[in-house]
Amino acid sequence: RTRGLKSDTIAAIATPPGQGSVGIVRVSGPLCRQVAKQVTGRVPLPRYALFGYFRNRDGELIDQGVALYFPGPHSFTGEDVLELQGHGSPAVMDWLLSRVLQLGARLARPGEFSERAFLNNKIDLAQAEAIADLIESASDQAARSALRSLHGEFSAQIRDLREQLTELRCVVEANIDFSDEDIDFIERGAVAERLKGIQSTLQSIHRSARQGALLREGIKVVLAGRPNVGKSSLHNRLAGFEAAIVTDVPGTTRDLLREHVTIDGLPIHLSDTAGLHDSRDTIEQEGMRRTREELTHADHVLLVADDQSGLTEVEQAILDELPDNVTYTLIFNKVDLSGASVGRWEDPQGIALRLSALTGAGMDLLRQRLKECAGFDGEREGYFSARRRHLEALQRAGAAVVVARKILREKGAEEMLAEELRQAQNSLAEITGEYRADDLLGEIFSTFCIGK
Ligand code: GDP
Ligand code: ZN
Repeated sequence: RTRGLKSDTIAAIATPPGQGSVGIVRVSGPLCRQVAKQVTGRVPLPRYALFGYFRNRDGELIDQGVALYFPGPHSFTGEDVLELQGHGSPAVMDWLLSRVLQLGARLARPGEFSERAFLNNKIDLAQAEAIADLIESASDQAARSALRSLHGEFSAQIRDLREQLTELRCVVEANIDFSDEDIDFIERGAVAERLKGIQSTLQSIHRSARQGALLREGIKVVLAGRPNVGKSSLHNRLAGFEAAIVTDVPGTTRDLLREHVTIDGLPIHLSDTAGLHDSRDTIEQEGMRRTREELTHADHVLLVADDQSGLTEVEQAILDELPDNVTYTLIFNKVDLSGASVGRWEDPQGIALRLSALTGAGMDLLRQRLKECAGFDGEREGYFSARRRHLEALQRAGAAVVVARKILREKGAEEMLAEELRQAQNSLAEITGEYRADDLLGEIFSTFCIGK
């Protein structure tokens, strides 16, 4: 059972660009044996390292290295795969790749090896995505959750839910006539019970997947407030080093500064903005325009004020402009000057913190608050790496189950119920790629790196 494979041979340098002790050219497709024979002089024994010389068309030396041959279907892509491991010099890698292309292979597109693995049923779509996630993972936690998805734990739970939905649909289609209350009371009760179970499983998978997606994608946090309140200092505190320019001159941060910091593995995409205030300086005005723009793309805004002056009409104006879906925290900075104590409370305007970016007092409250706003617990194990598209599919499946339960309660027609169950199944099938649009595949695999 394949998902429609093409049969040409692809090749790419699988190791990162630049110098390294080892560089690998990876080949997949029917020409592997021939390529191995031409380059190394013979076809390596399957899955045994062959140490030897790589030669060009004229028999001249390209490199000395190791060739590995994995005949299909027992290979990563499911096709014949050849790996030529040489010295990681860009020149050597180029010679080696050119030689392989000369022999009839073509250059692989980004993600094409993984795409072939998917098309040959070696992995499902969620696993293929997990490969890219693992490569890109920026923290221990993100790497672990990608491994879990790659290993198939996410897919297995999705498949299990789909099977439950299929069984339920069979029951519904075969047995139940909702119009006759007495006869079908027991069946209806059983179906209702099972739907409830499916809904709660869906919710728990969604929670784990959302944590995984957060680990992968993080949240975008924007620092805003008048000049000189301590935004850059706060930024530096969070980033842990001197990233932004801190000065006593108001309006120093004219451009946006962006930083990626992690809090217990949660990536925070932090940007420091120009102070919002009225300015006649055109460069500053441009900075402020960008700040406003930045605020509309934030997941969370840290609105910073000086504890001694409190909220002014400038902060009020920022709050009024914030889109509804953007959460925020009021930060009253410089408690070391105001003499107030560090803390958190619920202000009429929202959750507020008193802290000092200079001394670092109260920073733990801020880190806690950011994790809380992201909905990230950062402690539990067992997350899956997931993407927005998975979360959306899980949500659609959940919505269909909710409607199905309603139909059941209101004794609607079984055709309608069966249709909702089918919708839920299809949404889940999109996650693993059993049910898909082809443009989705292109979209997913094109974001991979070459050679994967
Ligand atoms: P921004 O314009 O909002 O980015 O403010 P900066 O971070 O550049 O800080 C402006 C000035 O306030 C600098 O001299 C900082 O050292 C000082 N500052 C920032 N945070 C604190 C704080 O918590 N306590 C005290 N005493 N000074 C601070
Ligand atoms: Zn600043």
